[in-house]
Amino acid sequence: MWDKLFSLQEVDTKIQINLKDKDDLNEKILLEDGKKAKESLLNEIKNAITKYQVQINKIESKIQELQNKKTDIQKKIYGGLVSNVRELQALKNEDDQLEKDINELNNYANKFFSKLSLMEENLDKITQEVDILKENWNKNFPELEKRSEDLEISIKENMSNRDILFNSIPDDLSMIYQRLLKAKDNIAVSKVSAGTCSVCHVKFPLSTEKELMLGKEIVFCDNCGRILVII
Ligand SMILES: [Zn+2]
Repeated sequence: MWDKLFSLQEVDTKIQINLKDKDDLNEKILLEDGKKAKESLLNEIKNAITKYQVQINKIESKIQELQNKKTDIQKKIYGGLVSNVRELQALKNEDDQLEKDINELNNYANKFFSKLSLMEENLDKITQEVDILKENWNKNFPELEKRSEDLEISIKENMSNRDILFNSIPDDLSMIYQRLLKAKDNIAVSKVSAGTCSVCHVKFPLSTEKELMLGKEIVFCDNCGRILVII
């Protein structure tokens, strides 16, 4: 009975490990092993670059507009058509102001250009990373899928083994086992090792050991509350 109980615990532990592995594997498959996250980063960078380019185009067309204005004013100043001194001075002032505005806009555009070139460098880097992840993913996917299928088979096999073992132990014991399994992080049974509980490593009194040797009653670890078995 006690060896069956311990085997049940071993099968349950295997199932837990397989379920955890399968979860990790499924997540890897779902996220295509980091490829999806990298691809969405790549898209974000591409969108940001497009926005910057739109902004730069706006600034450049504004500069062009001011430049045209400046050309017109200079034609007036140097064309000899304006002879009024005041009017001429006003045109020169306007010309100076336009020069300042154009310079300012050029500086502003340059800031955008340097940010844009950084982003383009980053884009190249991330594109290369995505290519590598794509290549790896195409190479690794069949293996990951196979591993996931194998785990599925293993879980099913262990589940049916579990049912057989579970039904082969007395009802009162199986009920306690099931309850402890839930309460004690999927470890309900502890193998005794040199007078100590192998899960919590606490040494138990001689009386407990005697009880265990008799093997009639369910003996619990005083410290962690798990079922102790001698195998
Ligand atoms: Zn214990």
